[in-house]
Amino acid sequence: RLHNTLAELKGQIRVFCRVRPLSSKELAKCGGEEAIHFPEEDMLVVSAGGGDKEYEFDRVYAPDQGQVNVFVDTEPLVTSVLDGYNVCIFAYGQTGSGKTHTMEGPSADPGVNSRALAELFKIVEERRDVEEITISASLLEIYNETIRDLMTKDKDKKLDVRQGSDGVHVPDLTITEVHDMDGVNEVIDTGKKNRTTFATNMNEHSSRSHSILSIYIVSRNKVTGVNAKGKLHLVDLAGSERVGKTDATGDRLKEAQAINKSLSALGDVISALTGKASHVPYRNSKLTYLLQDSLGGDSKTLMFVNINPAPENCQETICSLNFAQRVR
Ligand code: ADP
Ligand code: MG
Repeated sequence: RLHNTLAELKGQIRVFCRVRPLSSKELAKCGGEEAIHFPEEDMLVVSAGGGDKEYEFDRVYAPDQGQVNVFVDTEPLVTSVLDGYNVCIFAYGQTGSGKTHTMEGPSADPGVNSRALAELFKIVEERRDVEEITISASLLEIYNETIRDLMTKDKDKKLDVRQGSDGVHVPDLTITEVHDMDGVNEVIDTGKKNRTTFATNMNEHSSRSHSILSIYIVSRNKVTGVNAKGKLHLVDLAGSERVGKTDATGDRLKEAQAINKSLSALGDVISALTGKASHVPYRNSKLTYLLQDSLGGDSKTLMFVNINPAPENCQETICSLNFAQRVR
């Protein structure tokens, strides 16, 4: 059922909500008292102070749902890049809610990124006789409204977004052709190394910047000569938590403002697209401008909203769920 609806979701936005398991620490703290319940498929209820709030999404993954379950539903979207679609997959949520787990995942149990690439390589191999397909990748981050190429050690190389006849592009961004998973892993590892040189505290830095792994597909049908081009953007967003107004000053305040700006710009763009608004405010942030030709129009969008189930997180959880509800 989902496979069919996903295949048809051109121009629409899907929201998948994933609730991670409580850590042993969190479990000890709340004494097994749970704040989130799953009364029905694809629905969750948050029990917070005043009462229960109900949310429905295209998919809801309870904590017992693993990477495989998540990828089964994501796969049709991923593979549609081979048919020439542009696809964006976002992970949205507060720091510690499982965004990186969902997208990147541990090497023993990888997330969407690796599974997507592995699937693409598999299909390329299957179609070898009829199609010639090249896959390339780039890795960048957006920090304080500045785009950085993670394939270079050069801290000062700042990139810009341009709009051309061929869609948006980032001049001078390093784009590497990849032939197999080893090639992809090399790109990811290099990017990680370079990213650490940009930051003094990697954990803090990654929670305050967006990282975007982009996959570019060019295919040519050997029989018909028809060409197709598609892009897949895999986006691990900055943490959505609201920085306390009182404790943010200087750099922290600037970071918080940049994050709020780009996440609310993303929310505005997606809800304008969902509401079929005539004006879509892509230019309000680097993030939405960069992804302009992969959001709306003929492209396909999936947003994961990641949830930390600890009862003390209820307020942030509700903020995330409300955001996700708004873009649906
Ligand atoms: P974020 O990227 O949103 O800050 P992480 O992905 O780093 O959050 O997750 C925070 C912690 O929770 C990590 O230790 C991660 O391994 C764990 N975690 C997140 N999601 C899951 C999950 N679905 N199953 C098991 N552990 C998870
Ligand atoms: Mg993370």
